[in-house]
Amino acid sequence: MSGCEWLGSKKIKKQKLVIVGIDAGTWKIILPLLREGRLPNFQALMERGSSGYLATLKTTSASPVLWTSILTGKLPEKHGIKGYISVRGFPVNSTMRKVKDLAEILSDGGYTVGFVGFWASWPAQKVRGWLVSDLVSLGRFKDSQASANWYVDDYSYLLKIKKVTYPEDLLKELYPLLLSPHQIPREFYQRVCEFNDREWEEFQKIHWVSRTDFESLLKYSIVSDLNFQRIALYLLKEKKPEVLAVYFEGPDIIEHFFWRYMEPEYFSGVSEREKERFGETIRNYYQVIDDYIGELRASAEPGTAFLIISDHGMERVIKEGSEALHSGSHAQKHPDGIMIFSGPGIKAQRDKMVQGASLLDITPTILYYLGLPVAEDMDGEVLMELFTEEFLKSHPLKLIPTYEKKRKRIKEQASPLDSEMVKKLRALGYIH
Ligand SMILES: [Zn+2]
Repeated sequence: MSGCEWLGSKKIKKQKLVIVGIDAGTWKIILPLLREGRLPNFQALMERGSSGYLATLKTTSASPVLWTSILTGKLPEKHGIKGYISVRGFPVNSTMRKVKDLAEILSDGGYTVGFVGFWASWPAQKVRGWLVSDLVSLGRFKDSQASANWYVDDYSYLLKIKKVTYPEDLLKELYPLLLSPHQIPREFYQRVCEFNDREWEEFQKIHWVSRTDFESLLKYSIVSDLNFQRIALYLLKEKKPEVLAVYFEGPDIIEHFFWRYMEPEYFSGVSEREKERFGETIRNYYQVIDDYIGELRASAEPGTAFLIISDHGMERVIKEGSEALHSGSHAQKHPDGIMIFSGPGIKAQRDKMVQGASLLDITPTILYYLGLPVAEDMDGEVLMELFTEEFLKSHPLKLIPTYEKKRKRIKEQASPLDSEMVKKLRALGYIH
């Protein structure tokens, strides 16, 4: 067992950590649900830890850029991921990232990691542990015949792609965990929206992802997040990484397209039946995510810290009729995201919302918490106000100039699923 390890000249005890990345996780939805007692796991973490707003970058609303800033502690100019599509015209991936990310830094620092599903993580880079790239949720789109019917029900194409996971063999092990949409029972989908028998029949027929078919986006989101959750739980139980991180994209997609049903008074053309079916969809989905957090808590070893973060918030679109059909937006005012941090050494301050934190602070704060040096070339800072006096006293801040010295330059490379990625980004209204 790896209880302790020599890092630099000092012996540190390794703190276990689970990181849950919720795209577009917002207090706007969470706080009312907490008051209704509908998010017991969020609540438990908040009561035992510190929570606050997490400012996003004002220069972009593109998730690959923001999540790369979260996981590097650096601004886009430094990390090199500047949008959904690279300057050379293909979807961004890990070969375009110019600096080490958290998974690589923690690996260098002696921690074992399991990272699941984050943007631009293909090709899976070598880490001390396990890395599951975002291509896993895209793999099922390949090899479908017509462009109108490209949401196929199997993942076999994934097995033909290199470096979907690190180590490469991990994919074969995870493959049986991947559910196709039709393997998920009606009861599960019904947690998120209502179906009568006819509507359920129609829903089952959906084999595409289209921005004009919101139910197709709902289906895609549910399947994608559920598969990443199943992989994260598997890694936690079977591989026991010291730091596990998992990313859920669904809340962002569902908030973009289903906000109109939650606040129909601001939108025209929402039918009574749509209100019944989808009025609670966003809120219901947070309860699904809360369950996922609960499952992770139940599977983590006692004493494991939990960090819940989002890249930005979400709000009702200011003006209806945006061409992407979005009714929720984060591109107009760049609303803050969320942060909940709970674990040994973290202050329990349930009645206070920490202000002034930025998503750039996440990586420096994690490194400090885990006893590793913070790099001076990072743009964020350690959020000292999250830690107890005792922890601060016994954990002096260590600094190093940079983590970059040892990073090999990687040759830029396009993915075999680039055209599927572009279709997905178009369907979501992220690119045109
Ligand atoms: Zn978004």
